[in-house]
Amino acid sequence: MNNFTKVGSDYECFSTFIPPYVLDNMAKAGIEEAKSTILQSQFFRETRAENSKKMGLLAATVPKGKADVQVYDSENTTVFQKKLVRGQDDPKTNDPAVDNAYDHVNDDRDFLKDEIIGLNSLDNNGMNLICNVHFGKKYNNAFWDGKQITLGDGDGVIFTNFAKSLDVVAHELGHGVVQFTANFEYHHQPGALHEHFADVFGTVVTQWVEKKTAEKAAGKEIEWLQITKKADWLIGDEIMGPELYGEALRCMSEPGAAYDNNILGKDPQPAHMKNIYTGPGDNGGVHINSGIMNKAFYLTAIEIGTDQASRIWYNALRNLWPTAIFKEAVGEIIKAARLLAKDNKVDKEATQRVRTAFREVGLF
Ligand SMILES: [Zn+2]
Repeated sequence: MNNFTKVGSDYECFSTFIPPYVLDNMAKAGIEEAKSTILQSQFFRETRAENSKKMGLLAATVPKGKADVQVYDSENTTVFQKKLVRGQDDPKTNDPAVDNAYDHVNDDRDFLKDEIIGLNSLDNNGMNLICNVHFGKKYNNAFWDGKQITLGDGDGVIFTNFAKSLDVVAHELGHGVVQFTANFEYHHQPGALHEHFADVFGTVVTQWVEKKTAEKAAGKEIEWLQITKKADWLIGDEIMGPELYGEALRCMSEPGAAYDNNILGKDPQPAHMKNIYTGPGDNGGVHINSGIMNKAFYLTAIEIGTDQASRIWYNALRNLWPTAIFKEAVGEIIKAARLLAKDNKVDKEATQRVRTAFREVGLF
C-alpha cells in the first residue's frame, strides 16, 4: 500500500500510527474493523491529495496562533474539525476521549516549551494544536496529516481509544515537529527518520510528564514499573485492548520485541543495520527500519539521560534535510552532541556515548 502522495515537488506526510502491514495482518485474521480502517484511510488520503493539488496548498502553511489546544469531536464521521468541544482552558467535558486528548496535547505543548527543547508549539510560531477525536466508526488508527492530529475510537477489542495514550499523541505531534524542521520525505530511510523522531518525541514526552528515568525496568522489575519510575520504552502499549493486553506497537529498547501474536503478527523491526529491511512494503520500511535508530537513541539515553539525549537529537533534527539518510543523521547527531558539550548544555562525554550507541547498531 502506497502511503505517501507526491504533490508537485512537495512530499506530504500522511502518517498513520498503526503501520499498514499490521492492519493487513489484522484483516487477514478476520478483524472487520481493520478492513474498514484500511478503506477509510485510503479514501481520505486520496481526497486529500486531490484537494491539495486543486488548491496548490503546501502542508507547511499554517496560521500563527497562540499555541492553544483545540479538541474537536468528529461525532463518528470522517469530518475534520466538525464540532469544537474543548478549547484552551475550557473545563472538563466528562467525555474521556476529549479530556484525555486535551491533557495529552496540553502536556506535549508544555514539554516543547520547556528548556530541554524550547519550542513555541510544533512550528515554533505558536500554531494552535488541533486534535480530532471520535473519528470514523471504530476507527483503528491515529494520524498526523500535515496540520492536525486525528484519533480513532478503536474497536474496543484489539485497540482501545487512541486518545488514551500519551505516547501515541506525542508521536503524532512529533511528526508535526519533524515537518516544520527537517521535513523528511516519507519513504525509505528519510521516512524511517520521520518515524524515528516521532517515536523519540513519543517516549521523551511520556517520560517527562510521568517523571520517569531512562534506565529501563528489566526482568522482574517490570511489575514494579510504577514504583521504580523507570521508563518502559514502549510505544502504543496503552491502546492495546483486552485481547492483546501487555503488547505494544514498538519497543525502543528492544526493536522486534513489541508484539508477537496471531492478530498483529510479529514485530518486524530490526535493531541493527545488518538486518535492515529493503523491501517495498510500508513505503520502504518507514515503521520498520526506524527500529535501528530507536535503539541508538535508547542506548544513548540510558548513558547520559533522556533530557540530554533529547536535546542532542532535536538540535540535529533542526539541521537535517528532506532526503537525509541514516548515515547523514548520525553525522548531524554526533555534531550536535559536540557543539552542545562545548556550550556545557550536555555532558562532556556525550559525543563518545552517542558514537558508541551508533557503533552498536552498525551505523558508525
Ligand atoms: Zn508515525
